[in-house]
Amino acid sequence: MKKSFIYQIVGAFILAVAVGLIFGDSASHVAPLGDLFLRLIMFIIVPLVLSTIIVGVTSAGDVKKLGRLGGKTISYYLVTSFIAISIGLIAGYVFQPGSGVDVTLNEEAVPSAETQGVVETLLNIIPTNPIEALTTGSMLQIIFFALFLGIGIKLVGEKANPVQRFFEGLAEIMYKITGIIMKLVPIGIFGLLAPIVGEYGAAVLLPLIKLILALLVACIVHVAIVYGTAVKTLGKINPIQFFKGIFPAATVAFSTCSSSGTLPVTMKNTQENLGVSKETSSFVLPLGATINMDGTALYQGIAVVFIAQYFGESLSFAQILTVALIATLASIGAAGVPGAGMVMLIMVLTAVILPLEGIALIAGVDRILDMMRTSVNVMGDATASAVVDASEKKRQSAA
Ligand code: ASP
Repeated sequence: MKKSFIYQIVGAFILAVAVGLIFGDSASHVAPLGDLFLRLIMFIIVPLVLSTIIVGVTSAGDVKKLGRLGGKTISYYLVTSFIAISIGLIAGYVFQPGSGVDVTLNEEAVPSAETQGVVETLLNIIPTNPIEALTTGSMLQIIFFALFLGIGIKLVGEKANPVQRFFEGLAEIMYKITGIIMKLVPIGIFGLLAPIVGEYGAAVLLPLIKLILALLVACIVHVAIVYGTAVKTLGKINPIQFFKGIFPAATVAFSTCSSSGTLPVTMKNTQENLGVSKETSSFVLPLGATINMDGTALYQGIAVVFIAQYFGESLSFAQILTVALIATLASIGAAGVPGAGMVMLIMVLTAVILPLEGIALIAGVDRILDMMRTSVNVMGDATASAVVDASEKKRQSAA
């Protein structure tokens, strides 16, 4: 990756902070630049996921390999999410972000969410109308449809060749368009961040500064230790190289707060900068952007401890275990869009009978927390793609 691109991104960051600090609320005038970028990356997601997963399946060879890939990916995702929650919980107890907080509750800020049961959520992965899934951008349903289309193409053989070639062409086109849009990353970052810096003043941030810092430290620990070790030992990539390679995607995640929105950039970075095969990345990354959210899991761990501390409640060991379990599910269920993790917090708080109003405490700074957790979510997906790819390559060379 060109060094100058990294410099452009860093420059955009610095400029955004400066403009936000100098112009305050008026920095929102540059928001259309951010929206422009956001819309551009959003419009490629559905065709990108559909075509790349189909190509991933048809080039994977057989269904057995696909099952193996799926098994490895999902087990890896579960293990890292569980570690993330544990780090979040530990950070909550070490930093005590909820003690001595002086904020009044604004109960109107509590989002209302209808949570589905586990069975219903699982059944919902199967689209009754795949076209509807495509038009509404329902990620898991699209993934399901694409997997089956790919398997179908393989089973039909010869006659399905034109369909296969069509999707191969579409995937290449979507990669090319992603490349063009990537050039706008610095402008997008500037347009998204400057208004946020301008909007948040010290009065909003300071009362919750301990929470913000606790999450920051926990995220850095998770990324440096868990991802650093995983890419080095399992992915066979130098961690510095890895972090440099994924830097653009991490910054896009930071400014958009959407792992789904960042997906095209994540795919491009892992393939071009980390050498992950298209076959692996086109399967592992769309799935990860939807179900693997280590940053969100970590955030939920800290947030629960924070809310318990604020209300002066202590959590029993059984409650802590419940948090770990439910937050894993909540992070899987959270969509890769801004604020999803906070809404899913309702599920975790309900499970351990803590007041839902606690969410109102966090709501004011959630965008800041979202930036950090989304960056971790995206880096976690990229790590998984490197680890799974290395293990597949090892298998191939052994065969
Ligand atoms: N914004 C996060 C993401 O897109 C989800 C969350 O709110 O935790 O990954």
